[in-house]
Amino acid sequence: MTSEMPRTIRVVTLYPEVMDVYADRGNLLAVQARCRALGVGVEVIAIGLGDALPSEADLVLIGGGQDREQRRIAPDLAAKGSALRAWADSGTAMLAVCGGFQLFGNFYRTGAGEELPGVGLFDVTTVAPAPGMPRCIGDMLAQSEVPGVGELVGFENHGGRTYLGPQGQPFARVQHGFGNNGDDGTEGAVYREAIGTYLHGSVLPKNPALLDRLILAALRHRYGAEATIERSRDEYAERAHRAAAEVARRKGRPNS
Ligand code: GLN
Repeated sequence: MTSEMPRTIRVVTLYPEVMDVYADRGNLLAVQARCRALGVGVEVIAIGLGDALPSEADLVLIGGGQDREQRRIAPDLAAKGSALRAWADSGTAMLAVCGGFQLFGNFYRTGAGEELPGVGLFDVTTVAPAPGMPRCIGDMLAQSEVPGVGELVGFENHGGRTYLGPQGQPFARVQHGFGNNGDDGTEGAVYREAIGTYLHGSVLPKNPALLDRLILAALRHRYGAEATIERSRDEYAERAHRAAAEVARRKGRPNS
């Protein structure tokens, strides 16, 4: 694929009207802005409750939401589970944040004891803690296990504790903050090109290496493994990353 040929990625956003806490919508804006700078077109397909998925997607985005919102979307999302798992197996890039990440796992058991069905794309399960237990809130700094992504920064706010199953691979290791459960030092999950994470922020505007990784994976899904992107730096995003990392080092709960 030469740089003269116009390229477009197909981005599916899941329940953007419902799952959008802490400005997770900023992840789509970051994809659009970065793709514009790279000369890549973006076709956005927003999927609401009851809508059918398109036949294909190169990138899927879902944000966070509280238990109330998760309860609204869980049955509809779980019904799309086999299609989403097939997309992931075909190399579709995905980013699922917080409440979206929880529902991309096997299930989420709420504080009321209700089990919300998940997509089963990541081998993780999430349980709300016993009443009175604190939420996991604060700035997070983590080191990604995904090659080339490096240091990650963001903000987390969740009650649910997520545990990796035997097939579950962590997305990152926590340096400051809580991550999946505040105990085992893992953060998020990864399956092929799909990433689940507790990082809000929005996460993509301040983690340019992760943003580029998702865009490249989306391009490769559409145009084949030889697709590349220009290695141009976004200095503004890098400055945002450094500033957020500094705050997380100073104020985030040390993971020791
Ligand atoms: N309801 C979930 C929890 O608190 C997710 C919260 C969120 O997406 N911010 O664990």
